[in-house]
Amino acid sequence: MIPKVVVIGAGFGGLEVARGLKGAPVEVTLVDQHNFHTFQPLLYQVATAGLSPTDVAHVVRGLFHRQANVRFRQGRVTGVDWSTRTVTLDEAPDLLFDHLVLAAGATVTWFGTPGAADHAFPLYTLDDATQLRTHVLQRFEAADRDPTELERGGLTFVVVGGGPTGVETAGALAELFTMVFRKDYPNLDVARARVVLIEMQDHLLHPFTASSRRHALETLESRGVEVRLGAQVESVSEHAVTLVGGDVLPTQTLVWAAGVQANPLATALDLPQGRGGRVTVDRDLQVPGRPGAWAVGDVAAALDRRGDALPQLAPVAMQSGRHVARQIRRRIEGRPTAPFRYRDKGTMATIGRRAAVAELPGRIHLRGGLAWIAWLGLHLVTLVGPRNRASVLINWAWNYLTWDRGPRLITEGRRGARRIPNTAAPRTDTVRRHAR
Ligand SMILES: Cc1cc2nc3c(=O)[nH]c(=O)nc-3n(C[C@H](O)[C@H](O)[C@H](O)COP(=O)(O)OP(=O)(O)OC[C@H]3O[C@@H](n4cnc5c(N)ncnc54)[C@H](O)[C@@H]3O)c2cc1C
Repeated sequence: MIPKVVVIGAGFGGLEVARGLKGAPVEVTLVDQHNFHTFQPLLYQVATAGLSPTDVAHVVRGLFHRQANVRFRQGRVTGVDWSTRTVTLDEAPDLLFDHLVLAAGATVTWFGTPGAADHAFPLYTLDDATQLRTHVLQRFEAADRDPTELERGGLTFVVVGGGPTGVETAGALAELFTMVFRKDYPNLDVARARVVLIEMQDHLLHPFTASSRRHALETLESRGVEVRLGAQVESVSEHAVTLVGGDVLPTQTLVWAAGVQANPLATALDLPQGRGGRVTVDRDLQVPGRPGAWAVGDVAAALDRRGDALPQLAPVAMQSGRHVARQIRRRIEGRPTAPFRYRDKGTMATIGRRAAVAELPGRIHLRGGLAWIAWLGLHLVTLVGPRNRASVLINWAWNYLTWDRGPRLITEGRRGARRIPNTAAPRTDTVRRHAR
């Protein structure tokens, strides 16, 4: 019997597991609730009309035309029967497995903040990004029709979370307003639009050195972003954000870039979990007490040499995915498994046009234009699919040369209630960064 490997999630980690099993004597079924892979690091550019949704997503089936031992199944995994070694899906037949790899990623956590689940915009999926883009455009259209919207905070955009996602989003919104909306809305006083970045610590970009943090702060402020350090959101309503201490910011837009938790599927699958709901794994990334079960990427708590959980980043997911593919091969060959060792290739965050910070191995610290070019290059190389790479390159070149943005389309109506449930979890990594 050919061993069956079921991989849950076609994100960075899951794709690498499936690819790493190319030519192995196994039958791989890659399951995802979407029929596409999402390149999350560029979602903020979709949300700020820099890129189209199709630039950052790739159909999963198209990635495995040349790999005969992989098949794709679209479906939402709802549970696992460990006694029969069966995965259950919501609208598809069950799947039997010998090896099960959980690569279901992470989701937003609201830290129990009242009103956040109903009124804040998370940025985790392609839908989140297009909903935010539509909402931002709708706010400007509304203010163009009725300038009194400005008094009601219609053009105040609050971003909470001073990690890379928050910094990138705040910087990109400010650029969109000054570079593009100024021309799109000639009858509106666009200079009155505000972007406010709220961070509870006394600095931005926590994993970076003090000089990079300072550079990010100064660059954002010079581009018109109001940065409030040491501030914390107490509650959110449809028309305002209230900060701890009583300050009230009238706003209709709160972008939530403040924290993530492991996918709650880990709980449904009855797997051992630690901080942030992340699945506990052995050094080789097997789940203790569940023979043949592995966890990779954001959903797992893989440890570094010092015993600390690795950050929830794309390179960790990719490297851990490749590692598990190698371990499954070893197990099939009857060889012992090896521990996972993460190779940290540095950290990067972009702030906007010709502005970024990069801290690379060997104490090489870049900032400004050079760091920005390194950031662009890295993302182009990591993007899945040559068509996406070509399209992103053309869009970036166009945006850079013309000071314009492409897809400023209002494609959906007003959003309804938030789809992501408020599954409050213990605080986990609140910061995103680049490290490949
Ligand atoms: C806005 C944003 C910006 C980021 N920027 C950076 C960055 O600049 N640099 C960096 O290194 N990292 C960044 N990250 C983090 C990086 O994207 C993640 O670490 C990485 O995506 C984790 O990969 P993964 O495979 O574990 O999960 P994911 O890539 O999230 O993939 C999980 C997959 O599982 C699927 N899935 C979930 N639940 C189910 C289910 N029940 N049934 C079936 N399928 C399911 C999902 O549809 C998804 O396709 C960013 C993340 C976000 C949200």
